[in-house]
Amino acid sequence: MSVTVLYITGWCRSGSTVLGNVLAEVPGVVHVGELRFLWLNGVLGKGSNGQCGCGLALTDCALWAKVLESVRPAGRTLAEHAADVVSWQDHCRTRHTWNVLQRPPAGGWADTLALTYQAIADQTGAEVIVDSSKFASDAALLTHLPGVRPAYVHLIRDPRAVAWSWLQPKRYTGRRGAANSTWHWTGFNLAAEAVGRARRDASLTLRYEDLTRSPRAAVAAVLELVGRGGAANPVSEQGTVELGGNHTVTGNPNRFQRGVTAITEDLRWPARLGSRDRAVTTAMALPLLRRYGYARRP
Ligand SMILES: [Zn+2]
Repeated sequence: MSVTVLYITGWCRSGSTVLGNVLAEVPGVVHVGELRFLWLNGVLGKGSNGQCGCGLALTDCALWAKVLESVRPAGRTLAEHAADVVSWQDHCRTRHTWNVLQRPPAGGWADTLALTYQAIADQTGAEVIVDSSKFASDAALLTHLPGVRPAYVHLIRDPRAVAWSWLQPKRYTGRRGAANSTWHWTGFNLAAEAVGRARRDASLTLRYEDLTRSPRAAVAAVLELVGRGGAANPVSEQGTVELGGNHTVTGNPNRFQRGVTAITEDLRWPARLGSRDRAVTTAMALPLLRRYGYARRP
């Protein structure tokens, strides 16, 4: 049986956790967060955050304990398998996206990822899995996976807002300078574009600003993309959503929010991003700024 995987591409701090958790309020849809980090963060305890969205350690969460166990090859411990997975992932990084679109990399990551999606579908009964890992290389890999029907949302946010977000200290992850953030913003978005071009029929481009200003319409378009256009829209006319629980692997701390939540644009950056960081970011991102419809001087 095949499962639809909606893979969110783009760079971090673009609203993918919010989008995933809103979609997860639709029956038959599950948001698994940044699944790629399940082994590094959860099993090896080396990543930024080993806590599931349900509040438990990933390895104590009933869903992830079962999934990890069911994809572990016979004869390998969970830790040995996790170390294997992390080394395989090293051959499937963002810069490999263009090659992966042509053919999957050697090693077991493709098999593990396919088995993992299948195990999630079996454990949750979901027909649509939302993966907000944002590695275009993995998004490209999905085109080769048996039993997976891929769909893609390329989520884009103004790089100056992203740079400001990365400059703020956060408990769960490190800090980046504006140039570092914008370098990654450019690379991750170019790789996301390559996947979108390869699978135009199954792809959607969405800006964070449009998601937060018109969340109901944006979510309706994504549901249409994954064949759930008939489902009730979880976003109210007022732009709020009632968030239940989730089992997300890492992501923005807003994944722990519950109850009625307003989907709003974070507008702190225009007044707070320093002029030097703003100039560096704008200059580095200029070609893509225009393409994505952002003003040079917002
Ligand atoms: Zn959990």
